[in-house]
Amino acid sequence: MLGGLFGKKSRSKTSTNSDRKGAKQEKPQDKTEGKSSSRSRGPEAAASRGRKSGPKTDVKSAAQGRSASDRQDSAKSAGPKQPAPSSDASRQQTDVKASTSQWTPDQYVVEAQEGKTRFHDLGLDLNLLHAIADLNYEYCSEIQAESLPHTLQGHDVIGKAQTGTGKTAAFLITIINDLIHRPIPAADRFASEPRALILAPTRELALQIEKDARALTKYAPVSVYSVVGGIDYQRQRDYVHNEVIDILVATPGRLIDFLNSGDLYLDQLDFLVIDEADRMLDMGFIPDVKRILSRCPKVDQRQTLMFSATFNQDVMNLSKRWTSHPIYIEIEAEQMTTERVEQKIFMVPADEKLEIMCRYIETNDITKAIVFGNRRDETRRLEATLKKKGVKAALLSGEVPQHKRIKTLDQFKNGQIEILVATDVAGRGIHVDGVSHVFNYNLPEDPEDYVHRIGRTGRANETGVSVSFACEDDAFLLPEIEKYIGMKLNCEYPDYLLDTEKKEK
Ligand code: AMP
Repeated sequence: MLGGLFGKKSRSKTSTNSDRKGAKQEKPQDKTEGKSSSRSRGPEAAASRGRKSGPKTDVKSAAQGRSASDRQDSAKSAGPKQPAPSSDASRQQTDVKASTSQWTPDQYVVEAQEGKTRFHDLGLDLNLLHAIADLNYEYCSEIQAESLPHTLQGHDVIGKAQTGTGKTAAFLITIINDLIHRPIPAADRFASEPRALILAPTRELALQIEKDARALTKYAPVSVYSVVGGIDYQRQRDYVHNEVIDILVATPGRLIDFLNSGDLYLDQLDFLVIDEADRMLDMGFIPDVKRILSRCPKVDQRQTLMFSATFNQDVMNLSKRWTSHPIYIEIEAEQMTTERVEQKIFMVPADEKLEIMCRYIETNDITKAIVFGNRRDETRRLEATLKKKGVKAALLSGEVPQHKRIKTLDQFKNGQIEILVATDVAGRGIHVDGVSHVFNYNLPEDPEDYVHRIGRTGRANETGVSVSFACEDDAFLLPEIEKYIGMKLNCEYPDYLLDTEKKEK
């Protein structure tokens, strides 16, 4: 019966850390043998893990099953069970999922095509396939076609792929298919113990992943929830404390809060996904992620999928430590967007850049654009200057609090804000259609960032313009960029921009 996994039970007294640890250590370690040998779960596995519980009515708080020090930590949460507030209801998975009983894969018609992988060909569970069909996905995207055959076998993957490549569905399909195939009886499931954790650097991304996960679990007995910073602390805490969650999507800070308070435990994870690892690094989350990883099963006792848009040495080092025998997959998707983006490079003196850019924005009547700066202090100055000139500008950088970033993005989407000034880290998550121009106030030091930046325009088959201002300080970065994008860029001297008389003719 669908929904059979949704029995609500707090972590039981009999489910101790040492019981579970012993059981986990008995598992074969070699994941390359395939998931079925190394990651078996289900009734027998659950029993061998000592995850017995009392009758369903014997609901205990998480704190009751912990050691004295744990109990102290979680004392705050040991109060009587509260039902999740009603406003959270829309986020809850109900026991009644949509029915897939009438559905057959014949209703999901996709012609076999050479060189393309259909979701039909992957041996996915019918409930999952049905949800994919509802999303109107036809063929696997490149990252899906390359990663799923491995991840569905239980292998760790390190994927170099950015947003827009379909990587979210790649890791979600892997997790959901496995969770459907290896159910744990309701009597052995507890609140506070997710089976899959997806770590994302920002609230926006986490909520997007949660939304995608809900769509893909539409017909599956798999529950999804997210814990993210900036909002709903108590509501989220009550929820994770009281409800059984299969897939948890989290930002690092809030997750650590709930680990410390004893409302969440990660020792039962089968899956760990680290999304946008490079951004985690840029945003200073790595110590947090390390702390989170120390609470997870060991690297060979979980399946780890790690994605990053760029792979610098730091990301490589971490990915090696956090995965076991990983398969590397590299997708260069945004390269394609350069075909739809006209790239202008203006050679300008450093001290005239700002003036020239403002004039360009003004004379070209630009009402939806993103200006990228390399440093936070620079973006702050840019925003202030644009505002002084009467431009509806706003800042999107790591130092802007989450709630403000969400509001700013909404205002940018609906046109209340016309020019968004962003750093690379904050700008990577901007997926707004209709952005006519991207300005590179400075050339980025990493050529990959150049591609990410200009990919903010020319989205959804539109065309766009990128305008880069190269000066004596950063023009030396051009050859690297040209090499990376595989084309020569035409540099102009924008004298006419300063010559208003000429412009008016
Ligand atoms: P992501 O890279 O995960 O942010 O996905 C980008 C967009 O592609 C999302 O809107 C997904 O719904 C969509 N998507 C993911 N996989 C596929 C697919 N195989 N076919 C069509 N669209 C997809």
